[in-house]
Amino acid sequence: SGRWARAMAILKEFEEKCATPIGKLRQVADAMTVEMHAGLASEGGSKLKMLISYVDNLPTGDEKGLFYALDLGGTNFRVLRVQLGGNDGQVLKQEFTEVSIPPHLMTGGSDELFDYIASELAKFVASEGEDFHLPPGRQRELGFTFSFPVRQISIASGNLIKWTKGFNIEDTVGQDVVLELTKAMERQDLDMRVAALVNDTIGTLAGGRYTNNDVVAAVILGTGTNAAYVERAHAIPKWHGLLPKSGEMVINMEWGNFRSSHLPLTEYDHALDSESLNPGEQIFEKIISGMYLGDIVRRVLLRMAEEAAFFGDTVPLKLTVPFILRTPDMSAMHHDTSSDLKVVGSKLKDILGISNTSLKTRRAIVELCNIVATRGARLSAAGMLGILKKMGRDIIKEGEKQRTVVAMDGGLYEHYTEFRNCLENTLKELLGEEASESVVVEHSNDGSGIGAALLAASHSQYL
Ligand code: ADP
Ligand code: MG
Repeated sequence: SGRWARAMAILKEFEEKCATPIGKLRQVADAMTVEMHAGLASEGGSKLKMLISYVDNLPTGDEKGLFYALDLGGTNFRVLRVQLGGNDGQVLKQEFTEVSIPPHLMTGGSDELFDYIASELAKFVASEGEDFHLPPGRQRELGFTFSFPVRQISIASGNLIKWTKGFNIEDTVGQDVVLELTKAMERQDLDMRVAALVNDTIGTLAGGRYTNNDVVAAVILGTGTNAAYVERAHAIPKWHGLLPKSGEMVINMEWGNFRSSHLPLTEYDHALDSESLNPGEQIFEKIISGMYLGDIVRRVLLRMAEEAAFFGDTVPLKLTVPFILRTPDMSAMHHDTSSDLKVVGSKLKDILGISNTSLKTRRAIVELCNIVATRGARLSAAGMLGILKKMGRDIIKEGEKQRTVVAMDGGLYEHYTEFRNCLENTLKELLGEEASESVVVEHSNDGSGIGAALLAASHSQYL
């Protein structure tokens, strides 16, 4: 019928606009490399902030003692304690809890958020068993993973540049988040010192390096997306401090804010962006990460419903609700292998209130999920190629047997199999057979928590 044809035309046009042929991916990778250089050259030189992390030494395996980590960066936050055994990378024991952040705290006042976090941390400390040992007279020490753009002043202080990923608390912007947390811990009578402030990418890099010496970069694909890597200190023109002994500095790219004319952006992406909490910002993140993919799918479906009666004569009301279709649900539909696509059917019914969908309709929806996930995964791979190029690790040099490991983490990468497979295949395609043998993507399961604790250990006041 005419309606079906119109719906398919909308889908087809979207697919064409989302196309990521290999040539385009190479342009994106090259643009990423160029922006990396610009961001390292001067403060504000690029959309890529290329933030200096003050981490100039990564874990060696000799870290020893009881340390804590707190990971704030999305919808949940985690607290963790780990007993490190020293001598070559031994985690003797670790425990964590995960607490969800009540949505009203994400857009309320700064003290309310930090009080909530500190109180959960205090509860966690109070529940400590006998397997964990803090030497008498010692203060507890914490690695604080705070996954928003921060301008660091030292390893344990830094001012919030801006919120992302749905957080919007005005009075925190410009403040030292370590001071905010420290004051909140004092209000809870919790005697703990923040020894290291890190981003989740830095934590993941540190956690990955602890168990694998070849880890030189980290990528997060979760609610948001970001990357970090090890740079040569003398290749950071904007760094005016003393050159670190190691000659290296870990850089937090904040690649979620990358943008380039080569990115395949559609009208749906522009609408999502302009209606977001941070219009004009985090454009790369908005077409790649878990917070947004489901909503892109919703927006295309809404257009198909409005202009081609894709779901019948009336537009399903719930389809007009922003973020009602979450990426985990999109991924469940995308992975539906049943012959009648019953997962797709039940998701449509349960989430959007759309019942009695035909198999043909369900197939089109799976195809839509595939288009959105494929674009995100392929662009992520292109971004990674940009980093490898900057590090000179995208090609194999004569007679060198260098291995490059990228530590990956985040719920999107971990759970969205189609996304993950597409990313890994695309990276191979971009690198070519030979070079791709020396580059390994390694899932670093919650490496960021342990990584932050390890960095707290290596920056302990008792060393
Ligand atoms: P955060 O990024 O908030 O620190 P995670 O790394 O755990 O937390 O990532 C959570 C995000 O991962 C969710 O917001 C969601 O977008 C995505 N995600 C979680 N589960 C799935 C899934 N099954 N399929 C696709 N995406 C998922
Ligand atoms: Mg996280």
